[in-house]
Amino acid sequence: RSPAASEDPATQQPQQKKVHAQVADHYNARPDVGVEKRKESTIFRMKSFNNWLKSVLIGRYARPRDRVLDVGVGKGGDLLKWSKAKIQYFIGCDIASKSIEQARERYRTMRNAPFEAHFHAMDCYSEPISNVVAPDIVFDMVSMQFCLHYSFETETKARMMLHNVTSQLKPGGVFIGTIPDAYWIVKKLKSESDDKLQIGNSIYSIRFERRDRFDKFGSKYWFHLEDAIDDCPEYLVHFPTFQKLSEEYGLELIYNKKFHQVYEEASQELDFNQLLYRMNVVSENGSLSADEWEAANVYLAFAFRKKN
Ligand code: SAM
Repeated sequence: RSPAASEDPATQQPQQKKVHAQVADHYNARPDVGVEKRKESTIFRMKSFNNWLKSVLIGRYARPRDRVLDVGVGKGGDLLKWSKAKIQYFIGCDIASKSIEQARERYRTMRNAPFEAHFHAMDCYSEPISNVVAPDIVFDMVSMQFCLHYSFETETKARMMLHNVTSQLKPGGVFIGTIPDAYWIVKKLKSESDDKLQIGNSIYSIRFERRDRFDKFGSKYWFHLEDAIDDCPEYLVHFPTFQKLSEEYGLELIYNKKFHQVYEEASQELDFNQLLYRMNVVSENGSLSADEWEAANVYLAFAFRKKN
């Protein structure tokens, strides 16, 4: 990646692109490959597992006729899951404008347009959602999948994210999401020898610039996930800080589980177990490799309920 793009007018020096612009460029540059091509990916099983896990979360918390806000919707990879949950109305926002175009296109080509949907390109961590969503729309659910951690660059951004999550969420409404588990990541890093700045395996790597200090916001690392994320800057989400801040915005934590735990529980239920096969997480040819299985456990899933 070449972050240098423009010149700082004050210093005449090449200016580093702001992190949110690097993140948007990164996701805009990733092609939207079709289903068949996706099967050739080295992490096809892990991608399927992540999709299964999101289906479990949606299956547990979405209700028919829900109005849903998806922050960091990406290329709209969850649209079919929302359709299966029989929701009524959907708004998807993302900073990557090309991804938003692809999400719109994916919705357009869905058979029988099962729910009304609108898509907006915006920086959800710097602007209020009311810039694009009419204030009288009330959501039953907000979903943030694999994207909330980018807001932990600063407290101001994390607060804007939480403002956007809660400002139009109805009392009793649910906020679901998935994030890297900072506790697990730092514990793993600390279990390595003192000079090591990186953890990972053949599928993923997480590289820090320092390991002597991890702040509540702005604790940056570089994330690489084979065939998915190409050394992108991300931020640790210190969960107690996230929970405390969420409480200020009227949210009560109701679910917080590592991906392995979600699997252990949900795979005992017949519907979700059958879904493992239908979504190609497991087939007669095998399942996730040991490295994919470890990479999957970088993440945790959460749900909050907005207090009455
Ligand atoms: N939620 C989708 C999914 O599960 O397939 C996409 C996940 S992708 C790993 C992370 C997404 O977060 C990207 O589409 C990226 O553009 C989006 N994102 C990062 N920073 C953002 C911001 N400030 N505002 C809105 N979206 C952002």
